[in-house]
Amino acid sequence: MTRTAIIGAGPCGLALLHAFEKARADGADVGEVVCFEKQSDWGGLWNYTWRTGLDEHGDPVHGSMYRYLWSNGPKECLEFADYTFDEHFGTPIPSFPPREVLYDYIVGRAKKSNVREAIRFETPVRAVSFDPDTQMFSVTTESFPERVLRTESFDYVVVATGHFSMPNVPEYPGFESFPGRILHAHDFRDAAEFAGKDLLLMGSSYSAEDIALQTLKYGARSVTIAYRTAPMGFGWPDGITEVPALQRVDGRTATFADGSTRDVDAIILCTGYLHHFPFLDPDLRLVTANTLYPPGLYKGVVWAANPKLLYLGMQDQYYTFNMFDAQAFYARDVILGRAQLPDAATMAADIEHWLTRLDGLNGCMDEIDFQTDYVRDLMALTDYPSFDLDLVRRHFIAWEHDKQESITGYRDKSFSSPCTGTVAPAPRVPWWQEMDDSLAKFLQK
Ligand code: FAD
Ligand code: NAP
Ligand code: MG
Repeated sequence: MTRTAIIGAGPCGLALLHAFEKARADGADVGEVVCFEKQSDWGGLWNYTWRTGLDEHGDPVHGSMYRYLWSNGPKECLEFADYTFDEHFGTPIPSFPPREVLYDYIVGRAKKSNVREAIRFETPVRAVSFDPDTQMFSVTTESFPERVLRTESFDYVVVATGHFSMPNVPEYPGFESFPGRILHAHDFRDAAEFAGKDLLLMGSSYSAEDIALQTLKYGARSVTIAYRTAPMGFGWPDGITEVPALQRVDGRTATFADGSTRDVDAIILCTGYLHHFPFLDPDLRLVTANTLYPPGLYKGVVWAANPKLLYLGMQDQYYTFNMFDAQAFYARDVILGRAQLPDAATMAADIEHWLTRLDGLNGCMDEIDFQTDYVRDLMALTDYPSFDLDLVRRHFIAWEHDKQESITGYRDKSFSSPCTGTVAPAPRVPWWQEMDDSLAKFLQK
């Protein structure tokens, strides 16, 4: 019997469990599938935790999400093709839901496909190695709270542990004597903590953009964003400014590359995350920056050097849940032998083709096209139900324009579903004025 280990029960791990369940329901022999999850519940990053630093067992906290986090892309761009928003909520909802609503949606499908039994919660994977003689993996787990170590053999291992959890923490001159708090976005939880403060944010991507807006919305006095490469250049509301790279801090005075200075009370490092797989033998580890095509993964999923090892969701993400689904269906088919892998040279050439194209991309519109074509390529290889991918592409392009038009207003726009055609209603309260991010408030008529 084929044994498959899935590591992580976030959106990717759940997508794969769901894909296996579908095959099982259709009469396939899927062997034994076990999912190991270090947290006590499913949903990955979407399973909000107030904790920072170490968890109740002394392990690094996985969660990087914070209070008042709202979807930063239209929900129509991530809709599950086989479990629509209409099916889950029974009524049309606005395009940019808060975290709790998307969590409810993810969990809704997982409950429907009844995958919970396959998950061993509070069970981090501690070690994975591969024996070329037996062609099997040894997977060592630790189960809490008893702290029992256990090693089992698996034919396949699928790594679905996410890559927005281990913070990338740079140091700048003067940090050691800065009199305020210096934290990474991974440890940011409640914008209200910074009410009345002057903040310095480092980075110029999604975390910097959103934490700047959140902290201002919940009362920060000023937010200065220091970019390393290029500014985001949005039409920021009063109170947010972008400046070139930080040079140093002296006391609470920050000095930037253009010679300007600013006194700040706290520094938030929105400097991204590391792909981090301490539980894998070094020769099994994906080593990559946050990119749309991590090297070494055939179809972005299969570890070409050893195709019994697969990775889900390791790309940088415009597409999320529907891309994870397409990856999961493909991974399942590889494991079940339904999808035949070509020889090593052909896999290498395919990877090279994508990497060459990646090299030539210029800006976000090219990136959207790249990831759209990647998802299209995967979908052609699987029986994941089709949806209007060209519409999703157009939605992403409109969304980029909306952000240029109004960075505080883009979350008030409505999009149409690529699965059902349903047009989202406008939110009752504009996002910039809405302080309550609860599911109950969002679903109120
Ligand atoms: P994760 O969600 O990270 O789940 C990985 C799981 O693996 C976790 O449950 C973790 O506990 C478990 N795990 C880790 N290590 C081990 C181990 N050794 N053993 C066992 N289990 C382990 N996407 C959107 O579509 N819309 C958004 O608005 C959005 N906002 C975001 C905001 C923030 C702040 C961040 C950081 C990300 C956001 N994302 C958003 C992107 C997010 O990456 C995906 O939505 C999604 O959560 C990725 O799913 P995943 O399963 O790959 O990883
Ligand atoms: P990211 O997109 O990888 O961006 C990392 C940023 O850090 C880049 O701007 C990079 O600058 C900068 N950086 C890295 N090292 C630096 C250094 N030493 N000094 C200065 N700057 C440095 O990471 P992210 O912004 O944390 O986003 C991660 C994910 O979270 C994304 O998928 C995003 O969609 C999601 N997210 C969503 C929301 C939401 O509102 N729902 C909010 C936050 C995050 P360079 O450009 O110079 O390389
Ligand atoms: Mg997962």
